[in-house]
Amino acid sequence: MTSLPMLNTREDYHVHANFNDHSPSNLSIENIVKRAEKLKLNKIAITEHVRKSSDWIEDYLNQIETYGNKKIITGFEARILPDGTPNCLMKYQKKYFIIASFHNLFHDKKKWMQALEKIICNSNVDVIGHLGPWHDEDIKITDEELNYLSNLMADQEKIIEINAKYRWPKKNWIKIFKKNGVKFHLGSDAHKLKDIGQFDRISDLINLVNK
Ligand SMILES: [Zn+2]
Ligand SMILES: [Zn+2]
Repeated sequence: MTSLPMLNTREDYHVHANFNDHSPSNLSIENIVKRAEKLKLNKIAITEHVRKSSDWIEDYLNQIETYGNKKIITGFEARILPDGTPNCLMKYQKKYFIIASFHNLFHDKKKWMQALEKIICNSNVDVIGHLGPWHDEDIKITDEELNYLSNLMADQEKIIEINAKYRWPKKNWIKIFKKNGVKFHLGSDAHKLKDIGQFDRISDLINLVNK
């Protein structure tokens, strides 16, 4: 087995901001950067929820340009659409750090697998966020299928996020991904300033990757 880099709790690759209506107004880019400095984080990716129709993107990019520094990565979190593409305009996909995540029910294992395969093979996507079939209780993925998917992820150099908000992927998924050489990193999925860089609630998952 090849040895993989350890998860670093001073790096948070999934932080939201106040450009969507469901985060508090104090989650500004300026405050996020200050919070990261205070916590002495080495790296954070600001990854606001994006849609193709989002009209705030230029303002968001300007704010990160103004307040950011070398430790700040500019990115977006995009929903994986039923056709397996991220809900993000191509010009932003190509230029910025992209987390692609399932945020909706597929109710159909074949369609879900096809969408995931397409995302894994999409060179504009950097990371797959909180991986699982969302809350589709009826979609069960076998170990054989996880082996297949994780070999594809390793081959395509996709990073799988260990997500503190959802505690996903599940442990048995992480074990198989790790065995097949998939790379991981951490994402708090913070929607509040106090959640940035906080990974205590997934220390068991971190240990599983780092042991
Ligand atoms: Zn998400
Ligand atoms: Zn998120």
